[in-house]
Amino acid sequence: MPYDMIIIGGGPAGLTAAIYAGRAAIVPLVLSGAMPGGQIGSTDRVENYPGFPDGVNGFELAMGFQKQAEHFGAEIVMDAATEVDLGVRPFVVKTRRETYHARSVIVATGAFPRRLGIPGEKEFFGRGVSTCATCDGFLFKGKTVVVVGGGDSAIDEGLFLTRFVKEAIVVHRRDELRASKQLQERAFAEPKMRFVWDSVAEEILGDKLVTGVRVRNVKTDERREIDADGAFVYVGLIPATKVFQGQIDLDPAGYVITDDHQQTSVPGVFAAGDVQNPDFRQCVVAAGAGASAAIQAERYLSSHP
Ligand code: NAP
Repeated sequence: MPYDMIIIGGGPAGLTAAIYAGRAAIVPLVLSGAMPGGQIGSTDRVENYPGFPDGVNGFELAMGFQKQAEHFGAEIVMDAATEVDLGVRPFVVKTRRETYHARSVIVATGAFPRRLGIPGEKEFFGRGVSTCATCDGFLFKGKTVVVVGGGDSAIDEGLFLTRFVKEAIVVHRRDELRASKQLQERAFAEPKMRFVWDSVAEEILGDKLVTGVRVRNVKTDERREIDADGAFVYVGLIPATKVFQGQIDLDPAGYVITDDHQQTSVPGVFAAGDVQNPDFRQCVVAAGAGASAAIQAERYLSSHP
C-alpha cells in the first residue's frame, strides 16, 4: 500500500508539514535524513522563533517539532532519499535501504553549506576545517580560528565560537557585514572577535591539522598568512535538490520552483522551506511553508481519491 504522503526532509518545513498532515488524519512518512532537525538542529541559539522570548536551543526546538509530529502519528525514519521517480503514480521514493510509494510527496530537503573550493579546504575538512561551530567549537578551546563569511551564519556561529576560542578572526570579502544589525552589534562588542576586511581566503594551510589561512586583500592584492588552528566556512547555502533533477522543475540555482501554494511542476508534489525559497531562510518561514504544503497536499489527496 502506498503512503498517502511522504515528506522528504526533517527540518522545520518537513516536520511542520508532518504535524499538519497528522492533524488532518494522514499518516505521513518523514525521511528525516541523518541529521534530525536539519540546519536548525545544529544551531546553538534561536532567538527569533515566536513563543520563546528568551531564545531556544536549535536542537531542542527541532526535537520539539519532531515529538509533536510523532504525537500526531507521523512515522519518522532517519534515512535519506537517494532516488525518486515522480513520473509514475504512485510516486516512488528510494533510500539506500527501502523503496517506498506515495500518493503525494513534500520536498523539504533544505540546503547545505557552500564550500569555498580553495586548496586545503577538502584535505583538512574534519582536521581543522568545519562548517558547524555547534558541532566542533569545543575542539578549539583556547585556540585561534578563522571564520570566513559575513552573513548571519558566519557571525552567529563566530559568536558561539568565542565561548571556547582565544580569538575568532572573521575574514570577509567586503568592508561591511551582511549579517543583521543586532548580530553586528554583538560581534563588534565581542573582544574575542577580530575582523579582516576586504579579504578572501585563498588557501587553508596545514600539516596534519590546520595551521593557518592564506588570505588576499581584494583591494591591494596583498597576500598574508593568518596563523590559526581552525577555519570555519560560512559562505552561503546550496539547495539539496540533486535527487530531484529531471523530476521537477528547478531554477538555474537549483531551487525547487513552486506556485504560491507550494505546488511544484508535478501535481501531487509540493515543496517548502530553504529548498524552495532562498529569500528568507528563517525557521519560522520554513515552518509556515511546511504547513501550507501539507494543507495543499491534503486538498490534493481529497480531490484525487
Ligand atoms: P548568506 O546570507 O548568503 O551570507 C553568505 C556570506 O558569505 C556573505 O557575507 C557573502 O559575502 C559571503 N560569501 C559568499 N560567497 C563567498 C566566497 N566565495 N568567498 C568569500 N565570501 C563569500 O549565507 P548565511 O550567512 O549562511 O545565511 C543564510 C541564510 O540563513 C540567510 O538568509 C540568513 O539570514 C539566515 N540565517 C539566519 C540566522 C539568524 O536569524 N540568526 C542565522 C543563520 C542564518 P557578501 O556579503 O559580500 O555577499
